[in-house]
Amino acid sequence: MSLFQKFFSKPQTKQLSITSNNGFHLRPVAQFVSLAKTFSCQVTATFKDKTVDAKGVNSLLSLSLEKGDSFTLITKGKKAEEALGELYTLFETLMHNDKEIKQIEKETYSYEGSVIEGDIISEGIAIAPLYTYTAKEILQKSDLSFQEALHKGIDELEVLYTTHQKNDTASIYLAQKELLASLGQKSQTLTEFEQLVDKESQQLLGTKLDSKRSDYQDLLQRVKKQLGIELKATFPNTPFILLADNLLPGDIDTLAKTKVSGVILKETSPNSHTAILLRGEGITSLTADTTQLLADITVILDAYSGVVVYSPSSDDLQKASNRLEKNEAQKALASTKRFENATTSKGKNIKILANVSDVSSAKIAKEEGAEGIGLLRSEFLFKEEKPTLEVQIQAYEEIFALFDEITVRTLDIGGDKALPYMTLPKEENPFLGIRGVRLFQTHPEIMSEQLQAIFLASKNRSLKIMFPMISSVKEFNEAKHFAQEVANKHQLDIAQLQFGIMVEVPSVLFLIESFNEVVDFYSIGTNDLTQYLFAIERTHPILKTDTLSPVIFDAIETIVTKATKPVSICGELAANQDAIPKLLNLGIETLSVSPKSIANTKEEIRHV
Ligand code: PEP
Ligand code: MG
Repeated sequence: MSLFQKFFSKPQTKQLSITSNNGFHLRPVAQFVSLAKTFSCQVTATFKDKTVDAKGVNSLLSLSLEKGDSFTLITKGKKAEEALGELYTLFETLMHNDKEIKQIEKETYSYEGSVIEGDIISEGIAIAPLYTYTAKEILQKSDLSFQEALHKGIDELEVLYTTHQKNDTASIYLAQKELLASLGQKSQTLTEFEQLVDKESQQLLGTKLDSKRSDYQDLLQRVKKQLGIELKATFPNTPFILLADNLLPGDIDTLAKTKVSGVILKETSPNSHTAILLRGEGITSLTADTTQLLADITVILDAYSGVVVYSPSSDDLQKASNRLEKNEAQKALASTKRFENATTSKGKNIKILANVSDVSSAKIAKEEGAEGIGLLRSEFLFKEEKPTLEVQIQAYEEIFALFDEITVRTLDIGGDKALPYMTLPKEENPFLGIRGVRLFQTHPEIMSEQLQAIFLASKNRSLKIMFPMISSVKEFNEAKHFAQEVANKHQLDIAQLQFGIMVEVPSVLFLIESFNEVVDFYSIGTNDLTQYLFAIERTHPILKTDTLSPVIFDAIETIVTKATKPVSICGELAANQDAIPKLLNLGIETLSVSPKSIANTKEEIRHV
């Protein structure tokens, strides 16, 4: 391309459609903007004759894009084509991954006292006196200018974003950071900033983004705090149920460190960032009309049934505290025994490993009593940016240091899982297309770098490497050969590593005898195996398979009977209390489950 063409190249355009029921809302917009800003070319979005800068959160939000809308993304200038491609891939991923927050189903209730019905934010039960939220403005000395305060606020949010790993909570902090940066560009003084926040939140009133008004207020408080003007809330030092019209997302972190038993909010939606953070902290909470509730009276907050019982009878209190005690006793019992072995009543030891996806879930698994990692879903380790080799090595080293027994699965992208930096062709049936081990053919560089990082991090310890979506012995042999080549190229000794497969494609059931000759172990992925056995997509919104169908147990029996190498189970079925006795009966001796299921799975086994 000539220099002339490079600078005066035509703008690149693409039509993008909003497919998420939530519309193109703050969190995905922030992620989109964050990527757009990494390109020096101009990036704009046009919708219904309005064109805005797509590198600014609130300009993009001002298009109010809802499900079904399509807008034109235009990139112009240096690397315009690359920018368009990457933004398009990210946009598709964001739409695909944007979960609709469903109303939590309510249990029926029968209380003698008066009841106010509400909507559940976070399930649980609490009994405590009500406490009305109060906050006072406290003035302190600050030498910061408005611009400095703004940047400190942005930095604070960046730190919160990185320390919360890549979960829902982190995406909220990223969204707030981008929003603050975008609002800050338009204000020179605190007064201007306050006026802007006020104007923008007024515009959101009654719209689909109404719940984001608290984010604007939160950002205002964050900047004011840097300037010495802090809104400080006070909380009792005995258990309480907090009563408030709304809370700012920034309040939740502080609240979680108090003696709070529950929260009742008047004005928040289950989609608000405040609600997401309350769920993340596991604080029992509800939205309800709190007008007639008075401070200091003791109420029952039943966030299983979605009610506040505000004049509970002694019977009601008894019933609620029994439930509370039972919940806590169950959790406590399973939890206190979480580090003990899972031994059946007949004295057989079952090994309980964990399914983890990153350093933080691996640490949680250790805390929850896992005996090792049965499945490291490596595709979730770096969800946003392509990691460098060094960053990968560091993450693997941190995880490998936690346990003696570890199985790492190579990237399992495709189907319902995507990575913004791994472009896959658009396919009619992605679950039957480029997925799992097939990435060795389409993305050899990424796969080779991943293996190199794993080998380097393993530092001659024994480790299990597992290939996903294997459907033939040839595929396994090729993947293992690929791995050996990577080791040879970098002069790494991998003799101590074991290589095995996920059993999740039905063809493997008929090939076990041949696989026995080459693999070191099997791990049954019942999630995909079920999907492929019944030809029902695991994410299908309407069609559901019977997870406890005899077909699945027959398939597992076939594998266990024919295999001459160790077999474990790492699909969801491993933690299903109705399945556990059957799986043990079939001779399964190792289960790998999510960290939060470890204590209960062990307890379940003790009753078999
Ligand atoms: C499975 O398919 O059962 C499995 C454990 O893998 P994933 O859910 O990550 O596809
Ligand atoms: Mg799978």
